[in-house]
Amino acid sequence: MKYQIVPVTAFEQNCTVLWCDSSKRAAVVDPGGNLERIEAVLEKEGLSLEKILLTHAHIDHAGGTAELANRYGVPIEGPHKEDKFWIDALPQQSQMFGFPSVEVFTPNRWLQEGDKVTVGECELMVVHCPGHTPGHVVFHSQDANLALVGDVLFNGGIGRTDFPKGDHGTLVRSIKEKLWPLGSHVSFIPGHGPMSTFGEERRSNPFVAD
Ligand SMILES: [Zn+2]
Ligand SMILES: [Zn+2]
Repeated sequence: MKYQIVPVTAFEQNCTVLWCDSSKRAAVVDPGGNLERIEAVLEKEGLSLEKILLTHAHIDHAGGTAELANRYGVPIEGPHKEDKFWIDALPQQSQMFGFPSVEVFTPNRWLQEGDKVTVGECELMVVHCPGHTPGHVVFHSQDANLALVGDVLFNGGIGRTDFPKGDHGTLVRSIKEKLWPLGSHVSFIPGHGPMSTFGEERRSNPFVAD
């Protein structure tokens, strides 16, 4: 599996184009906006877009979803159904943060703990990690030793929990009980900022270190 991070929106959200090298089939994870940047990667790498995957439904992660899905005629998988209220609130989120107008959508597939999603011939496991939002999911590829964690965990930080249905204790439990068991060697792409590994965060992250 290969990937390229494409920072999008004023929040520099790490939208990620993930693809299966043998089939050149791709998924876009968290298309918050700036679709032209995402399309440029698909084109440059000669990829065929197969689906959109969502970690959670905040505007900087999900704002471009409906438009991208319509343009390419591809399905939307994720997040967990507990984030439906955030999807329904996308127009208000857009207004509040001065984003371009955005369409509400219904995912073709809601995800839950233990589900598998595929990208070409590659497979990722779904880990439900509530706390930042109640329906936040993380995608983990055992083969690639890679996790896409959205706004659950950052290099040196954790997600905000001051939103409706956010909860600090739940978020810390999600990280320690769901992410750490995946292994210290796992590299992760956070929703914002530089990559890190779970092991490095267990050593040095001021919020969740051992
Ligand atoms: Zn978020
Ligand atoms: Zn974010």
